[in-house]
Amino acid sequence: MATFPDYKDIYVFVEQKDSEPAEVGYELISEARKLVASAPELGFQVVGVLLGENVKDKAQDVIAHGADKVIVVDDPLLKDYSTQFYTDALTQVINEFKPDSLLTGATVLGRDLAPRVAARINAGLTADATGIEIDPTKVADGDALLLVTRPTFGGNLFGTIVCPNTRPQMATIRPKVFDLAPVDETRTGEVIEFAPVWNSTEPEVVVEEVLPKKIEGVDIAKCNILIGAGRGAEGCLPLLEEAAKELGGEVCATRAVVEDGFMDKSRQVGQTGKTVRPTLYIACGISGAVQHVAGMEKSDFIIAINRDPEAEIFTISNLGFIGDVNQVLPLLVEGLKKARK
Ligand code: FAD
Repeated sequence: MATFPDYKDIYVFVEQKDSEPAEVGYELISEARKLVASAPELGFQVVGVLLGENVKDKAQDVIAHGADKVIVVDDPLLKDYSTQFYTDALTQVINEFKPDSLLTGATVLGRDLAPRVAARINAGLTADATGIEIDPTKVADGDALLLVTRPTFGGNLFGTIVCPNTRPQMATIRPKVFDLAPVDETRTGEVIEFAPVWNSTEPEVVVEEVLPKKIEGVDIAKCNILIGAGRGAEGCLPLLEEAAKELGGEVCATRAVVEDGFMDKSRQVGQTGKTVRPTLYIACGISGAVQHVAGMEKSDFIIAINRDPEAEIFTISNLGFIGDVNQVLPLLVEGLKKARK
């Protein structure tokens, strides 16, 4: 007998803006597919939840990215994000359909919405997760208990959190933590339209104008090649910038470098910065603190340059150079350029 017989399936809140789903929703759907595949005995499906105005025609995209079903709440009150209306709508979706778990992006929107919903329905929520699995020891009992990992104690440790007493089990996960599965346009699935009964249609907060955020510089989360500057490279940042230019990449940094005033916060990688997954990450004069590593360890190939042979960064790098960044980086760039020709 399942522990929560009325609750089933893994739901993913697919955040959208201007009717365009954000990639993080698709990353979470890809991961949810892996979760259901890891415990086929449960017979769970992956369900996308799409809230907004004029979003119904995006449901097929959500299916193409791996959902079996999509619940669509299409309502003018959901045109722009509002804590009030989104919380009302998502809470009603949960009460009606009873998901076993609900994953949400740890974006500005997701970090506002998920705790509100969790409080309304008295569910457990693990924020800012970096890993999720279904506890294999519980599956035979029909229990899809999630083991949710997240950094804790200032990022010095990773903790695994379980919410065994309530359903759904909720988690927010940062963008870029999970891989995006290939899109399959031929996939078919069910689209369910759901109309919430609004507690009130009077907005508690009126959005008078939405001003697009000015994006200054580059978005390092979208770069294929990154050269990471640590405190050990603060004295040679022009060299790193030149190397990035040569390789067609960008420079990013540790929090130490940002705090020392050498780089803008928008280029900080790590737990309190951005999560990046470039093809190549060259860590220059970076010690490899867990808070930094949490934001770049999923890069395809990591090269580290550090003059301390004991530096932690070497434990997660594919290739390591023990030496002074001023000497090693120019030689490395030369070598990479030759290899690309
Ligand atoms: P250091 O740890 O000082 O390392 C410098 C390295 O450079 C050393 O290994 C040294 O051997 C090497 N070096 C020195 N000179 C040279 C040279 N000439 N050539 C080659 N190597 C050289 N950090 C982040 O990066 N991102 C975050 O998001 C983040 N969030 C945090 C959140 C919390 C709650 C806390 C407590 C900390 C956070 N930190 C974060 C800080 C983190 O703990 C480390 O302090 C920081 O990452 C260290 O940066 P660093 O590697 O540049 O400097």
